[in-house]
Formats: sequence, C-alpha cells, structure tokens
Amino acid sequence: MAGVIRRLDEAVVNRIAAGEVIQRPANAIKEMIENCLDAKSTSIQVVVKEGGLKLIQVQDNGCGIRKEDLDIVCERFTTSKLQKFEDLASISTYGFRGEALASISHVAHVTVTTKTADAKCAYRATYRDGKIKAAPKPCAGNQGTQITQGDNVSDVRTLSNASTVDNIRSIFGNAVSRELIEVGCEDTNLAFKMKGYITNANYSVKKCIFLLFINHRLVESAALRKAIETVYAAYLPKSTHPFLYLSLEIAPQNVDVNVHPTKHEVHFLHEDSILERVQQHVESKLLGSNSSRMYFTQTLLPGADCSSSEVVKSAANSSAATKGTSDKVYAHQMVRTDSREQKLEAFLQPMNNPLSTSPTEVTTEVNAGPPGGVVRPQDAEMEDVSDVVEMVQEDTVVPAGLSESGRVSPETVPPRKRPREDVDIEMEKDDTRKDLTAACTPRRRIINLTSVLTLQEEISNHAHANLQEMLRDHSFVGCVSPQWALVQYQTKLYLLNTTKLSQELFYQILIYDFANFGVLRLSEPAPLYELSMLALEDPESGWTEEDGPKEGLAEYIVEFLKKKTEMLKDYFSLEIDEEGNLIGLPLLIDNYVPPLEGLPMFILRMATEVNWDEEKECFETLSKELAMFYSIRKQYIIDEANPTNSQSEGSDSGSTTWKWTVEHVLYKSFRTHLLPPKHFTEDGNILQLANLPDLYKVFERC
Ligand code: ADP
Ligand code: MG
Repeated sequence: MAGVIRRLDEAVVNRIAAGEVIQRPANAIKEMIENCLDAKSTSIQVVVKEGGLKLIQVQDNGCGIRKEDLDIVCERFTTSKLQKFEDLASISTYGFRGEALASISHVAHVTVTTKTADAKCAYRATYRDGKIKAAPKPCAGNQGTQITQGDNVSDVRTLSNASTVDNIRSIFGNAVSRELIEVGCEDTNLAFKMKGYITNANYSVKKCIFLLFINHRLVESAALRKAIETVYAAYLPKSTHPFLYLSLEIAPQNVDVNVHPTKHEVHFLHEDSILERVQQHVESKLLGSNSSRMYFTQTLLPGADCSSSEVVKSAANSSAATKGTSDKVYAHQMVRTDSREQKLEAFLQPMNNPLSTSPTEVTTEVNAGPPGGVVRPQDAEMEDVSDVVEMVQEDTVVPAGLSESGRVSPETVPPRKRPREDVDIEMEKDDTRKDLTAACTPRRRIINLTSVLTLQEEISNHAHANLQEMLRDHSFVGCVSPQWALVQYQTKLYLLNTTKLSQELFYQILIYDFANFGVLRLSEPAPLYELSMLALEDPESGWTEEDGPKEGLAEYIVEFLKKKTEMLKDYFSLEIDEEGNLIGLPLLIDNYVPPLEGLPMFILRMATEVNWDEEKECFETLSKELAMFYSIRKQYIIDEANPTNSQSEGSDSGSTTWKWTVEHVLYKSFRTHLLPPKHFTEDGNILQLANLPDLYKVFERC
C-alpha cells in the first residue's frame, strides 16, 4: 500500500539536514575550525568535553562577526562568503553555503561571543533551531569569535535557600533523599553537638557513602564509620551499606586537625565516648524508623517481571513436595494456599468482637432515605432492612441464601413484561431446564445489539491474563480501608484499589448481563425531584448561580428521565414510575446493595454526564455512571476510626458490614466475574507491596 505523502515540518527538515552536515561532534568542530580559518585567524583554541557531547568550544582571533549580523548568523543559507552563483568559480574560503551554524544550532545549544576590530565591546547571543533567542548582549571579549555548543547547565547547582536535604537530593539523587532520617544529639560534658541525615532501613547500597564534617571541614574517621556501620548491619541485607551525612561540632581545643598531611583525618578528645553517643543515637533513630516503614510501591505483576519464574518454580516445587518427592522447598518459597488461615482482621479485631460471617448484615447500613429527607447511613437492625430493600430476581432461581433470609419475595412483585417482539432481542430457550422446573426456568435474553457486543468485545480485548489469574487464585488478607484491600497471590502481597476494581466489575456486569438483571425494589419510591435537589445542594455538583434556579433544573431532570423510563427499565432494570419516582435498581450481584448515599449524585449525573444521543455511547456512559454509583467509595462508608461517627450506636457492627461485603461479596465476584483491564498494571490500582523472597533477604539477619 502506498504511503501518504506529507510535507515535512520546517524544523524537521532542518534537523534532517543537520544530520547530514553534522553527523558527529567532530563534524561540527571541523566546520567551526574552517570558519575560524575563513575569518583569517592565527590562533584557534578548541575545548571538547565527553567527546563533544557535553561541550564544544572553539575560539579564534579572526575578524569577528558584526553585531548587526548576529540576528541571522545561525539561519540557513546566511553567509558572508558568497553572494552570487558566479562567485563559486572564484571562491577561496572553506565555507560558502551558510549551512553549518544553522545545522549545529538545530542539534545543540549555541552561544556566539564575538568582537570585530572596530567594535567597542564584544557581543554575546544564544541560538536555538536557527533563531536568536534574545537581542545580543554587550560583554567583555577579545577580537575574534568564540562559539560554544552545549548546555551550560552546571552539573551541580545549589540554591541559596536550599535545605541540606535539597542539596543531598541534587547531588546524590532522589532515591537517597526520600529515605533520609534526621538525626541530632548533643552532650555538654563531652563538648560536642551532632546533626545530620542518615538513610533508613529501606535503603541500602553496595558501598557506604559517609560524609563527615567536623567543625565544618570534610574529614574521614574510620572509627566513626565502623561504629555506625555496626549498627546498620542489623538492619540492612548482607554486604550492603547506608548513606550517612553527619556534621559534628566539637570544642576546637579538643580537636587535632594536624594528624594527616591532607588534613583528611582528625583526632579528637573523648573520641570513644563521642562515638558511643553517636552510635546509640543512630541506633535509636533506626529503630524508630523501622516501626513506621514507608513503602514505595511498584506495579510489579504476576508474570510481568523476571522474578515470576522463581514463583513458578516454587509453586512447582511445593506441589512436588506434597507428592513426597525429595525436592526441597525453602521457607521463602512457600506459599500460603488456604485462604481460611489467619487474616489481617485477626490482628486488629478485639477478641470479644468476633467477625460476623452472616450475609444478613450486608444490608444493615442501607436505607433508601425518606422521600425528600436526608439520605444517610443508618444502623438499622435486620428486621428493618427487610422492608427497605427487596431483592427480586425475576425469571431466575432464587438463590438459597437469599430465600433463607426471608428478604426475597418474588410473589409480591408481578413478573415484569418484557418486549419479546423486540427485533434485536430474542429469548433463549433452555429446554432441559424447562423440563425440570417449568415455573422458574432461567431464561436469558440474548442480546444482538451491535453496540453492546462491541462493548463486550472491548472489555475482553483489554483483559490482562496474568491479572485475571491473580484475582482468580488470590487469598484475601484484609481491608486496609474502604478503598484499599490486601490480597496475597503466590509469594507476593498486593494492595488493590477496591473502589476501582468494584467499579470495573459493575461496569462489566452491566455490559455482559445487559438487559438481564433482577430488580432491587426500593421499599418507598424515591422522588427523582428530591434526589436531584439533594444532588444540586451538594457542592460536588458544581452548581452555580449561572446554571439557573435549582428547582427548575430538578424539574427538568425529572421530565428528561421520565422520557427514558422504558429503555431504563427494559435494559437496566432501573425503574421509574409515572410520578417520577425511582422504584427499582438493577440487582447486579447477590447480596449487594449500592451505597444509596450516592443515589442523588447518580440521578444528577445520569441527566448531565450520559451521552443520550448515540446508542453505544449511551449504554457505555450510563453503565459507567451506574458502576460508579455501585462501587464501594470511601465517602459513603462510615469510617470506624472516625470519632464523629462513633456515637452512633452499633458502629462496630456497621464497620464489620462493609468489610464483610468487600471480602465475601466483592472480592468473591472478582474471582469469577472480573476481566481486569491491562491499565490496572500501570495506574497504581494494583500494587505489589512485598515479595516473600525479598522479605527473607531483609529478615535473614534478625
Ligand atoms: P559559511 O561558512 O558557509 O558561510 P556558516 O554557517 O559556517 O556558513 O557561517 C555563517 C557565517 O557566520 C559565516 O559566513 C561568517 O560570516 C560567520 N562566521 C561563522 N563563524 C565565524 C568565525 N569564527 N569568525 C567570523 N565569522 C564567522
Ligand atoms: Mg562555515
């Protein structure tokens, strides 16, 4: 297939051209030396750093460049050597095309400092991509021209208001500076003061960096180095070392600086006692830092990194071991495989508050809110809940767990009529099942809508196989917060964003089970008008005076959504009655009721954020909004650690509830229902915190 012919950008042309004339730094030097010779110089100085990649400087004592020519000297085809074509025949200079400086300025930072014989002073100008950056500046200079290529950014630059840590960062880098602990101690009897920064136990390098200043002079002290390294030996992996910056102030009369010809080594009075004090202080600081370790997480995924081969090996080994073969399994390769084993909760929950395992608690926080009233979480008892939300699964077998709880009352809800004549939707006939239980045959509508099929395909195309495997086989460790949870997979510990994962789960269910949902019936109809008003009152809605009165907007939202009721009900089991009340929500997974505190914002966003014009976009954006509303979001979960909520009775059981739901409803569904998209590997929603073999490296010394 023939390619598209396009005109290249001028800057690109120049860069390509530069490539021809200036292939290597040596070409630039040759061109510049030729220019010096053309300028009748008798002395030329060339400075080259790092083979010319860092800096090239060529200075001559030639005729110089006139100030008024400095503007265009680096433009293409500007030359003082050739004026008309015929001149070529008699040209006696090396250059004549006026291309060299232009090309150089496209691949390097060019500064020209030049003075002609009759000028009073020299002028300096800098160039980029053929153009002068600013008007030439007068400066001191001898006759001739100095052309410098290279970025004159200094290797090390400390700012006047920079802190010690800033300076350590600029010289030794971020990896060191973010792991620093401030240290400082003093002892009047020993007449010394010490302050500085040392790395914590998270950081280690092959070679110890020890910057020691005694009375502001950089010195060496083998004894002090040894004393501190002994302390670190207990914290760092074998044959690795810390970074240390210490500044000691010792009464001058106690210091002998004259023990070494380079003055690098010093001796001081009470050396042993001071060493001991410093050692003790460092020890205490390291101990403190160890109890509150900071983890810089990384998105290392199963199968995505080189160490996975180790895991595969260990898994194979452990299965071999159970079969009784002689292959030894090392402790650091052993994988906990039974998820019923001790979890994080066991360490956090008091003994007299045993974890509930009853699914009936799932909905204890839920209340649809009185019409027009404030929607807020309540610690309702189980009995109350049954009349708040009814879970109804039509045309499907009622799950045993639900019927036991007595909350499912399929008889009370008349079967929903579905438009069976719909061209794009057929009923799937499951003959075998029909024979068995004719009354409650699960009949699934087959969806042939291209838009939905495309959305389904998009989900499966973006799935990450290794992540999926991890989710399928993980052991749940515990909830860190409503938003984050820990899971283990093979020898690794992962931190998962429950909010984002649950959002994705609900989106995928909405797309895959499109038009096949049961209904979560609200016990009392929730007026869309009141819900919209509540949402508009919320600053999060972004409502401003310019949007017009809230009442008008709320009315508009109700009217707008009322027009969509048929579709919402048929495809999404979102039921709105003729008076504009929300009466039903889709039942996406068993035992799960969305946090209804998010309902007002969902209604508002349904009117403002959903693209109602295009079919595919409509299903996609509406599902996204629904998924966000259904997801576990921290703003809608009572935090048991938050004292403002603690006065509400039974907050303990309330806090257990969301944890129970996260573990037994959401993470259980993740195992089988979630196709994790690839982007979860990069956006920090799934992070690897620790890896058993690495932990062994840290702890093997303990
Ligand atoms: P060319 O050498 O083909 O003219 P260059 O791009 O190499 O093109 O240089 C452009 C112009 O800049 C030269 O014609 C000359 O006038 C001026 N110039 C460059 N280097 C020097 C120098 N070292 N001394 C004096 N003039 C110079
Ligand atoms: Mg030239």
